[in-house]
Amino acid sequence: MKPTISVGALGGTICMSAKNSGGGVKPSFSAEQLLEAVPKLSNLANFRAKTLFALASGSLKVENLIEVYHWAKKEVENGADGVVITQGTDSLEESAFLLNLLWDEQKPLVITGAMRNPDQISSDGAGNIYASVLTALDKNSHNRGVLVVFNNTIHSARWVHKSNTFALETFVSINAGIQGVIAEDEVKYINLASKRVIFKAPSGVLPKVSIVTSYMGECGCELKLLEDAKFNGVVVASFGAGHVSIDSMKVIESLKFPVVISSRTGSGVIAKKTYGYYGSEITLQESGCIMSGWLNPLQSRLLLIVLLANGKSKAEILETFDKI
Ligand code: ASP
Repeated sequence: MKPTISVGALGGTICMSAKNSGGGVKPSFSAEQLLEAVPKLSNLANFRAKTLFALASGSLKVENLIEVYHWAKKEVENGADGVVITQGTDSLEESAFLLNLLWDEQKPLVITGAMRNPDQISSDGAGNIYASVLTALDKNSHNRGVLVVFNNTIHSARWVHKSNTFALETFVSINAGIQGVIAEDEVKYINLASKRVIFKAPSGVLPKVSIVTSYMGECGCELKLLEDAKFNGVVVASFGAGHVSIDSMKVIESLKFPVVISSRTGSGVIAKKTYGYYGSEITLQESGCIMSGWLNPLQSRLLLIVLLANGKSKAEILETFDKI
């Protein structure tokens, strides 16, 4: 008997066309239509397809992805051997990272999309769906959490990052390297599964957490505004290895909500014990800040939302950012 793969479509370039509307591509194709565009798939598995959202990925919300988690989990409970999600690439790394914090199944959850829409020559959507299904069907994909399959390359949700506005090879696994590749219709892993910590899926109203980027001449005013606007936490995409200006440091010392210090550089681990000047990582920690370790600002924000939504204490939040 053929295995079953469930495919959930959320929108994105992979399903966008200008044929019906003109004036630029917009979400147009359903999950079923995306599968119909890859006839070869029917030899591999039986499919259950569902259009969950038809959005550009910049409009997806954390709440939407929690819905996707529950849908995917139900699919597995109802016998699916793996799940493939299609979505826009703009926020794909955030969806993947968030779902990876929640995905408590051994079976694979694979996310893909496209850089070229179906109206374009050499659009990559069909090939990415095909490679994602191969990955979802492969037993070696079990216990690897959420995977991103793009351009015949397999990334862990823990490290994947969109690095380019138009390139087909936009997704890279900063710091850690890729998990594997798809070659000659086969899934070939070259790295061990990434370490994971799994949390209960949040429900109800989610905590409001923003990201503020450090910049030359920053005054910390945005941080103050967030507190006034009743945000529940902030991630600072700080200078270098975890540094802010003297003015921002003064504001941070006065903030009552959790402040996570990540880096605006795009790669590398955050410092903990090198610099001692006012505004450095040592003084930020002394004022109660949480250092993000290897997590970039987008990942740090999602982790902080999940931790706050699960009612974790400051000590537990610090411990989690330390070990993840
Ligand atoms: N703007 C699109 C989106 O994220 C880009 C894409 O799908 O690649 O929905």
